[in-house]
Amino acid sequence: MKRAVFPGSFDPITLGHVDIIERAIPLFDEIIIAIGVNADKKYLWSLEDRMQYIKATFSGEKSIKVKTYSGLTVDFCTAESARFILRGLRNTSDFNYEQSIAQTNAGLAGIESVFIMCAPKYSNISSSIVRDVYRNDGDISGLVPPAVKR
Ligand code: ADP
Repeated sequence: MKRAVFPGSFDPITLGHVDIIERAIPLFDEIIIAIGVNADKKYLWSLEDRMQYIKATFSGEKSIKVKTYSGLTVDFCTAESARFILRGLRNTSDFNYEQSIAQTNAGLAGIESVFIMCAPKYSNISSSIVRDVYRNDGDISGLVPPAVKR
């Protein structure tokens, strides 16, 4: 069973995340979208809302599961018997950030990170930009899946 964890804050899920997940579906038997819970971090959307948006977006996908976790991502992977971490890359900043995390995770637990390069049309989308637009009453409909808009 090839099981991958796609970890993130998903505050909120964006079209960039959806692109990565959809393109990873053929690669794995199961993908757990794992919402990391960090007590020190302030989120704009509640955990329940973030989870609901993801579930609604992938309601038809049998191989997609949505869970929450706290603590080390590799510990969650081990508990879930997942050997892979899925991440998206937008640019070299993402690469520089992801490289050391992936190397650490491989060293800590032998978890392999798998990267998918985002489609060019999504390389400008981040959850933080969505939050900025939303806070200032801008239109986020071109940045997020329909479930977030409702
Ligand atoms: P984190 O808090 O870990 O950065 P995010 O929810 O922001 O969590 O992102 C989760 C994953 O999705 C990361 O691998 C990130 O690089 C990727 N990602 C975010 N936005 C995009 C995008 N527009 N295109 C491709 N991948 C993306």
